[in-house]
Amino acid sequence: IERTLSIIKPDATRRNLTGKINAKFEEAGLRIVAQKRIKLTMDQAGQFYEVHKERPFYGELCEFMASEPVVVQVLEGESAILKNREVMGATNPADAADGTIRKEFALSVGENSVHGSDAPDTAAQEISFFFSGLELV
Ligand code: ATP
Ligand code: MG
Repeated sequence: IERTLSIIKPDATRRNLTGKINAKFEEAGLRIVAQKRIKLTMDQAGQFYEVHKERPFYGELCEFMASEPVVVQVLEGESAILKNREVMGATNPADAADGTIRKEFALSVGENSVHGSDAPDTAAQEISFFFSGLELV
């Protein structure tokens, strides 16, 4: 059993899509074991996306992520990291497969509704960025 960090991004929380997105996770066999709605500061968004700081879209990405509340969550399941990324679909919704979250809900490559950790080490790091041990059972 594996855990991964998921974020429902501002474009999706704004459009009241949290429930529909969570249904996709649950239908795929992922269990939501922790979840909270928070509003990131620019500093927190910048720190979370530090790996992208040299990319041209970094500033825009941080402003977007800090623009409105997000829902951060821990998903658990068999191969949760890979499974979550399958349910999310490709980064650019134009390339995302039918039935994926990004195909159904994303607005653009930037406003693409969800984030998911990409590997076991980043999942552990991103989970502890948002959740304390007490919040995880
Ligand atoms: P995430 O890390 O959010 O799960 P990802 O791994 O599919 O998505 P990354 O390449 O890690 O994609 O990019 C991180 C995020 O940066 C993307 O989800 C998207 O919101 C934004 N992003 C990526 N490429 C672009 C781009 N060309 N223009 C604007 N924003 C972008
Ligand atoms: Mg990524």
